[in-house]
Amino acid sequence: MKITAVKGIPLRCSCEPISDALSTSTARQALLVQVETDAKITGIGEAFTYGAPLAVMKYLVENQLGPMIVGRDAEDIEEIWTTMYWRTIAHGRRSLIMGAISGIDIALWDIRGKAEKKPVAELLGQVSDRVPSYASGGFYAAGKGIDGLKAEIEGYLKQGYRDAKIKIGRNLDRRGPLRYMAIQDNHVAVEEDWKRIETAKALLGEGELFVDTNASWDAEMALEQGKELRRLGVSWLEEPIPFEDLAGFRRLCRELPGLQIIGCETQQGLGNFKTMVEEGALDMVQPDLGWAGGFTECRKIGAMAAAAGKKISLHCFGSAVLFAASLHMAASMANTERMESEENPNPLKSELIADGFAADGRMSFYVPQGPGLGIELDWTKIEKYTIIV
Ligand SMILES: [Mg+2]
Repeated sequence: MKITAVKGIPLRCSCEPISDALSTSTARQALLVQVETDAKITGIGEAFTYGAPLAVMKYLVENQLGPMIVGRDAEDIEEIWTTMYWRTIAHGRRSLIMGAISGIDIALWDIRGKAEKKPVAELLGQVSDRVPSYASGGFYAAGKGIDGLKAEIEGYLKQGYRDAKIKIGRNLDRRGPLRYMAIQDNHVAVEEDWKRIETAKALLGEGELFVDTNASWDAEMALEQGKELRRLGVSWLEEPIPFEDLAGFRRLCRELPGLQIIGCETQQGLGNFKTMVEEGALDMVQPDLGWAGGFTECRKIGAMAAAAGKKISLHCFGSAVLFAASLHMAASMANTERMESEENPNPLKSELIADGFAADGRMSFYVPQGPGLGIELDWTKIEKYTIIV
């Protein structure tokens, strides 16, 4: 079964602006990756982009990586992954190249599943039929305030979620990196963040509250704030500082017992996660399937974490394709604790598949059961959101 074409499909739709500690999203986007074969089986994947120009991601997929693998046997996934890695080694390894490799890899596993008429999770050694999740949201937005956050968390509880994650750290008064961002609206005083945490935690009750600073703190700040977060009953602090500060991460893990330090969605590749785990820099490992290296690399990251006694909680902030793929990956790792279920309004997640994603009463999502990723894409919706780049 030879690969005949590799295509990138750039999707974009505008959204009401939402902010984390640093960035403000005014649109949602995704780069879907389509790999075609001479057996008439087509695979779909998603390269996560973190807001990178879709034209660049599409170019990498179609013009740099695509020609390396057209003509190859689609079944040789490990060989193809390694080829893409080595032929881009000098300028790749990370960032957009690894994102593009991830998207192609997901599509190749979709092809393998369709060819063998099995869900990808089954090919990977599925250990459960569903994946526990938490509601990921709690962004800052114009006019939202504490009341808006309260209504949001109440909505999650009504849906059946028990645990939730909110953003914190959008503060200009600490001389943090928000001052370098193009949009600095909706920043709050540190005191308001404490109120946001108290409000969310009070509503969740026995449920767990997670907070995420999107790497906007430094280690000193995180140590100081971490003690307060622990006092307020926060369960995990996500990516508090940039992953380059390995010593800082190590200190946080050591000096903040009782508060799990988790990350990093921006990290990529087995070697980089291995270094963080070996150095005692993470309590829980949080790769993104569409960014960290696809199924081929993330199952190794999962195994490495398991060997070190660490749990996995996949990051997921993309379209329905990445969410489906992440369910297959998460359900195949015995050390999966839970997976991110992003709840911000996002048509690229809610509209691309007709029936949505099924969950049980506690919002554990069932792994789609069809061959490959097991999803039926609505191509009229894909066409609706496809943009020219
Ligand atoms: Mg995060």
